[in-house]
Amino acid sequence: MHAGAPRESAPELDELIFIATTDIAARTKGRSMRLADFGPDTSLGWVPANLGIGSLGHIVDDIPYGSTGDLRLKPDHGSLTRVDGIPGRPPLNIVFADLVDTDGSPWESCPRTFLRDAVAQLREEFGITTRCAFEHEFVDVSAKGDHHPFSLQAFRNAEPIGSALMSVLHRAGLEPETWLPEYGRHQYEITVAPTDPLAAADRAILVRDIVYDIFDAHGREASFAPVVAPGETGNGVHVHFGLDDAEGRTLVFDPARPGRLSELAGSFAAGIVRHGPAMAALFAPLATSYLRLAPHNWSTARAFLGLQNREALLRICPTNEIDGRDPSRQLHFEFRGGDIGANPWILLGMILRAGMQGIREGLETPEIVEGELDLDGRHAGLARLPRDLEEALTMLRRDKVVSGWFSPAFLATFEAIKRDEFASVQARSLAEQCEVYTGVY
Ligand code: GLU
Ligand code: MG
Repeated sequence: MHAGAPRESAPELDELIFIATTDIAARTKGRSMRLADFGPDTSLGWVPANLGIGSLGHIVDDIPYGSTGDLRLKPDHGSLTRVDGIPGRPPLNIVFADLVDTDGSPWESCPRTFLRDAVAQLREEFGITTRCAFEHEFVDVSAKGDHHPFSLQAFRNAEPIGSALMSVLHRAGLEPETWLPEYGRHQYEITVAPTDPLAAADRAILVRDIVYDIFDAHGREASFAPVVAPGETGNGVHVHFGLDDAEGRTLVFDPARPGRLSELAGSFAAGIVRHGPAMAALFAPLATSYLRLAPHNWSTARAFLGLQNREALLRICPTNEIDGRDPSRQLHFEFRGGDIGANPWILLGMILRAGMQGIREGLETPEIVEGELDLDGRHAGLARLPRDLEEALTMLRRDKVVSGWFSPAFLATFEAIKRDEFASVQARSLAEQCEVYTGVY
């Protein structure tokens, strides 16, 4: 879908601004207008039934939103970003919008409001703030030939795209950190610096669309699909986050306790681990997500907390103590279950909500798995993540805490999309399923 020859930019064109939302299918959607006409009170119309557009690109049947009803895309001006420097493309001005009813009140099913509310709750109910960062893996599906993991050659093969990507992200204020050839065939990873949760999730959306744009501008094609072909290394979307007090002091670090995790951080982690299986339908929402979420993939098949363990749903990340660096500010978590099918606002909103539930109930720190996972022995009892999308939907429905976070209409729409998707892909071979999602994502 992203193939195309570079086009000449026309400097005399008026600049546009794209007013964007991202939906259940985690595709960026919206409307544009001339930037010169965009003002502090601008909002644009939107349609509730658009939420029912699934990954396959059509509004599915049996959703609670029909042909009537109207919403507004209400821009969050702080999110306005200017993306410039993509060869042959005019600059992109993009602003993220909350979906509101026509009287300005938040829409019951707005994915961005889902995260916004979770962040407010975290601050107001618990006095906690957090800084977060999304890491993305993807495959250059147009690349040919051999690939050696992590190699200089793989890095060079992606030039000048790698340099272009880092420059464009930097100039857009998205603070890129590292760009690397990953383990999988023609797989790459891009990381950006942590920031507040809404901005971090907005950044995740921008990173994807900028990657697509840059690859397309170079006549190449990138795919973030969970697995681009059966047997290939998975592409994860990992979310890093800490917990701070209102003054930005860490609430995670306690050197006297197991894993150096404070009691509060332990409860937060426990909420995530407990609700992990039920959240899977939303963090791993594609039929092929479950090819990735398997043991020995350096992704995760069990809901557990692991110390520096890359098969954990929730990993306690290492700290850098070279030259006496202070670990207390560094210790943080990484949620490793997510993939590109998950809406970043919803993914992060769920992580925060599950964590808050853990604190609310005063849950004990879960078992911290240290060393290699021994699923036939001492770790056999760790809770399983669902093995496929159908099981994931059942687990979501059964968990009243997780399903209770969403409006009934959102859940009904989500389930209708997944049923439609399932009906369409289940008869196909795994290779074909992978191909479908590789085209979409
Ligand atoms: N590719 C792995 C995944 O599917 C992650 C590898 C890593 O630890 O970066 O999540
Ligand atoms: Mg990686």
